[in-house]
Amino acid sequence: MNRHTQPPPTPESALRALEEKLGAALPPILRNRYATSNGGSFGDPRKRDAEWQLHPVFDSSDRKQMKRTAEDVLHYTRLALQDARFPRDGISIAHDYSMYRQLFVRRDPASGNIADDILLFDVHTGEWSAPYAGDLQAAIDQARVPEAVQPDPARALPVFRYYADPFESGVMRTSGETCQCCGQATGYIYDGSFYAIGDESHFCPWCIADGSAAAKFDGEFNDAAGVGMGEVELPMRVIEEVSQRTPSFFSWQQERWWAHCNDAGRFLGEIEHVDRALLASEPAADFVRETCDDAHLDAGEGWQWLLDTPSRERSFAVFVFGCLHCGKLGGYVDLS
Ligand SMILES: [Zn+2]
Ligand SMILES: [Zn+2]
Repeated sequence: MNRHTQPPPTPESALRALEEKLGAALPPILRNRYATSNGGSFGDPRKRDAEWQLHPVFDSSDRKQMKRTAEDVLHYTRLALQDARFPRDGISIAHDYSMYRQLFVRRDPASGNIADDILLFDVHTGEWSAPYAGDLQAAIDQARVPEAVQPDPARALPVFRYYADPFESGVMRTSGETCQCCGQATGYIYDGSFYAIGDESHFCPWCIADGSAAAKFDGEFNDAAGVGMGEVELPMRVIEEVSQRTPSFFSWQQERWWAHCNDAGRFLGEIEHVDRALLASEPAADFVRETCDDAHLDAGEGWQWLLDTPSRERSFAVFVFGCLHCGKLGGYVDLS
């Protein structure tokens, strides 16, 4: 599945089959979400870089969907129940990419109905929370791209020269939301930082790429002073492209942009998203050494720990860039 587009709707028959097995109706928020898209992801309003994968409903309408949805809500619920601390009346509905955290709903013991509160289960602590976030429901609903604003398959997403994948970093997502610049619902929305006087910051990828959002609201996505990390001078057109026509990324401190070979580097993402083979290659050697120094890690176990630990479990982030000319990697450690 291309993660830039949400999966197809869940057939009503598949929803009914699931409800029959559960012996209860799904809460409306989930039912509506499944009716527009069977699975896919949505952001977490409580944690900016977190993304939830909604467990699909098993759909036997064709082989492709059967295969895609084989690991469904029931599958994940069975897995969750293997942990004795997971509530016996819980139904697992989503997990984060590490699988350590899950969202679930519960059956009301008296009525047997499934309540619409969404709770969080954390495998590390074994704890689960009372309603995790009311606004999570809004996030689920927002990720539900209405039929009318499904992304136009004929319209290719703009390519950002200095940004590998804004969907992976989480600043861009599929959404039914309207762009605050062009007023159109394109099926995608940007939700990263934008420095301007006004409050507008939710734009479609096209209004970012062609500079119209930055021009209309007189703002910038990335701090122009941080392009080159204050260490190298770059041509003005490069600084403008990064600050005005390139998405930002979620960071603790004001973001900076690594540069090399008299050009801005390409943002490859937080280190957790960067290809392991690339990080082990020769062009990464200096970067690895510098990162270990800056993060006070030894090059052996410390570095391995960094590769094995998701960013949200660290007190710092590591942003990685690649040179568009010589292939060298660079970046910096972002302390919380
Ligand atoms: Zn737009
Ligand atoms: Zn270079």
